[in-house]
Amino acid sequence: LSPCHGQGHPRQPQTGRNLRAVLCQRCGSRVLLPGALLLPAMRKKAAAAAAGGGGDVLREHWLVRDMFSFENVGFTRDVGNVKFLVCADCEAGPIGWHCLDDKDSFYVALERVAHE
Ligand SMILES: [Zn+2]
Repeated sequence: LSPCHGQGHPRQPQTGRNLRAVLCQRCGSRVLLPGALLLPAMRKKAAAAAAGGGGDVLREHWLVRDMFSFENVGFTRDVGNVKFLVCADCEAGPIGWHCLDDKDSFYVALERVAHE
C-alpha cells in the first residue's frame, strides 16, 4: 500500500514561508533556502512513519512546492513510489520525502532538520 494513496492535496497555506534557512542537523549544510513556500503539514503519516524507521511518527513537516527551493538535498532510490530526502553533503537522513505521484510536493520533517 502506497503511503501516498488517498491523501489528496494540501489546502491553501495557513501559515507563510520559512524565514530562516533549513539546515542539516549533522553537518549544518543548508538544505533549504529561506523564503521557500512552506507550511507545516500534518499529512502522510504512513510515509512519515516509514521515514522514522518504525513507529516514530513525525507530525510536522514543511511542504515544499518547488524542487528548486532546495539548496542541498539528495534523494534515495525509490521505495515504492516514495523517494526519501537526505542531506546532499553528509547523507544524513531521511529528513523528509517526496512522493512520485505528486511531483510538486516535497515534505521535510521539522524534527529532522535544524533552523538557522
Ligand atoms: Zn549534512
